[in-house]
Amino acid sequence: MTVAAATTPEALAGSAQDGFAARAVEVTKVYGQGDARVVALDRLTLGIPKGAYTAIMGPSGSGKSTLMHCLAGLDSVTAGEVYVGDVELGRLNDKRLTRLRRDRIGFVFQAFNLVPTLTAGENITLPLDIAGTRPDRAWLDTVIDTIGLRDRLSHRPAELSGGQQQRLACARALATRPQIIFADEPTGNLDSRSGAEVLAFLRRSVREMGQTVVMVTHDPVAAGYADLVIFLSDGRIAGQLAEPTAERVLERLRRRPAGGTQDPDPAERAADGPRSAPPGGSQ
Ligand code: ADP
Ligand code: MG
Repeated sequence: MTVAAATTPEALAGSAQDGFAARAVEVTKVYGQGDARVVALDRLTLGIPKGAYTAIMGPSGSGKSTLMHCLAGLDSVTAGEVYVGDVELGRLNDKRLTRLRRDRIGFVFQAFNLVPTLTAGENITLPLDIAGTRPDRAWLDTVIDTIGLRDRLSHRPAELSGGQQQRLACARALATRPQIIFADEPTGNLDSRSGAEVLAFLRRSVREMGQTVVMVTHDPVAAGYADLVIFLSDGRIAGQLAEPTAERVLERLRRRPAGGTQDPDPAERAADGPRSAPPGGSQ
């Protein structure tokens, strides 16, 4: 599947809005003041394609986590707008924002964040229990079969391997059938074999279950599981790569280690779809 993200206001405005699971429109995020002022996101525009697996890469400090947190409504933006589906997060009060996060967004963290005293099965249904929502059994069965932990449901997290724990965390994120799942370096604490299990599961959740996944990663191999890689640099979009392979991602990172110039090559621009904006134009 060839998918593309919109990375300029023009490309975003010129696309069908329902093709995006989430959108950042000219988002700026500033932390601190005076000498401590940091511009973490700098008028960044990004439309995340629905039903696709998008990886976000960039040097440490380039704004990857900030972008995820702003898109997920975990952090507010200084300027610009964020949409999940057609809902603009800035318009929501705290209560409605909390509900939207709970019902429409899934999270996977590097450190799993499972509840140690609950069984695997109880961890999966925890978000539903908190929401007071009756589980959709057929959906949960699909999720549990896809993570391949049916025979481990009565185990506690400590009795599972790292890869199993992170697959469990992915299943928990999927339990509410969210519109979008954000995973910040989900394989960062895993060995390569366990990491591969998790990445394969995330890919299946997109391919077979129609989910939308956005994953921050440093690892070209992990990015190779995605449909699309977005490169960040200094709080801006530095390019995108469709149908990535580990080799092509590595090659791209070698060519521009800092994620650098605003001059995407023709293959990358092609991935941005037909548009007449000059290279790097209004980012
Ligand atoms: P990445 O995830 O790509 O490593 P981050 O989004 O964590 O980058 O950080 C982007 C920039 O914003 C960095 O310069 C970082 O130091 C700064 N930053 C992130 N979070 C905060 C915060 N809560 N307070 C102040 N500065 C922050
Ligand atoms: Mg980070």
